[in-house]
Amino acid sequence: MYSVQVFRLTPKTVFFVPFETSTWWTMTFPPTRTWTRLCVPQENTTLGKIMFSNDSTRGSNRWHVIRVRSGCQTEVINLSEAFFPITTHYIGHTVPCCLDNCALCDWKPQRGLFYLAVYCLSRTMMLELGAQSSGHLEQHAKLMHHGLRSGQVIRCQRRGQKQPIYTEITDCQQNVTAVAPIDLASKVMALYKLPCSNPGDTIDDYSSRLAGIVRIRNERLALELKKGVSKGL
Ligand SMILES: [Zn+2]
Repeated sequence: MYSVQVFRLTPKTVFFVPFETSTWWTMTFPPTRTWTRLCVPQENTTLGKIMFSNDSTRGSNRWHVIRVRSGCQTEVINLSEAFFPITTHYIGHTVPCCLDNCALCDWKPQRGLFYLAVYCLSRTMMLELGAQSSGHLEQHAKLMHHGLRSGQVIRCQRRGQKQPIYTEITDCQQNVTAVAPIDLASKVMALYKLPCSNPGDTIDDYSSRLAGIVRIRNERLALELKKGVSKGL
């Protein structure tokens, strides 16, 4: 792809032309004093990749969350070998708990949430389950299907508002690739507006990095809660 810029040269105009990068060429045409700049993108130069580009094959950075509502039923294909568990607090909305020195633990009960990467409606999504529902599914998978594996077709159903989600593995598709646990972790934490993992991060590296951020965030939230309580809110 080439682009050409043509512009008039005025007496006060000064151009900086970085010839050493070999990226720009400038040619002058004396009769009209018109300059033409030919822009040639180059690969494998010392400049590296161009920042303002996009890899369209990556698609959206966010995965939708499947929360099965009362009276609903859905079927998903499992893409995880294990649940990704996090501990949370509910303060009008759900926030992650850092467990160690968490300021919210003194104020709000802990609640476990469990996530599986799944395939549904031609998209990669996350299935969110509570402690009881995930326990049922894990036990069912262990007893009947040698554990959770990618390709398992999971039917999810919820009969009532206060009922846990009923899950059952009904089929298994072959040659389905599992999502890496660090990728699932990254997508789950993005739900809570936390940064994604760095390339080469292990789950432990990522966990300790986020724990520091969550600790500071929860201290601030606990302070706001204390102010609300003292004002009688
Ligand atoms: Zn906590």
